[in-house]
Amino acid sequence: MKQYDLICFDVDGTLIEHPTGKVIWELLNIRYGGSEQINQARYDSYMEGNITYDKWVELDVSDWIEKRATQEEIVEVVRGFRPHEGALETVEELKKRGYRLSVVSGTLDIVIDTIFPDHPFDDVFTNRIFFDGDGNLTGWKATPFDIFGKPIALRELARKYGTTLDRIAYIGDGDNDVPLLGVVGYFVAFNPRSAELERGADRVVKNQSMTKLLEIFE
Ligand SMILES: [Mg+2]
Repeated sequence: MKQYDLICFDVDGTLIEHPTGKVIWELLNIRYGGSEQINQARYDSYMEGNITYDKWVELDVSDWIEKRATQEEIVEVVRGFRPHEGALETVEELKKRGYRLSVVSGTLDIVIDTIFPDHPFDDVFTNRIFFDGDGNLTGWKATPFDIFGKPIALRELARKYGTTLDRIAYIGDGDNDVPLLGVVGYFVAFNPRSAELERGADRVVKNQSMTKLLEIFE
């Protein structure tokens, strides 16, 4: 019998990578007139409890709308990402082996739709953005399931599939995955960009194809 029922993935930095190492939020903020300083200030503001996650999303996306962002432009930025080496074959093979697969991420839905159009994930929890008929960005819906919300999403998935958190594995790379340490049964830090994550993970995988996961989850 398998030790895990469900394997859950982070997106930016885990399933996909960008030559700059940045996540989609940073790239779009810079594309639409923001700066590294503004990104950092908003991150700090959220972490210090001065703004909610929803407010943080609102600040970023309203800047893009103000700059008249279009679907075409955003997809062009998204296309700067590529799946991490071995990611596509790994998720396909894990699915074949009978694992349920899910995404719980602070990324945007348009990233998954563009990079993994035929993805095998049973559940995808991300932030969402909306366009009008002419392709103009008009709105957003913030995910309740990023950072401190990630454990809530995992609890919902456990309940949905009649399993327990100790039978769920999670693959992630960043500070926003830290709240899952000690919550899921097995945590793989994949090319971690967070020292805390690297220290707390059950397993650290660095500088390798994602197919390494196929040795871990048989
Ligand atoms: Mg990440």
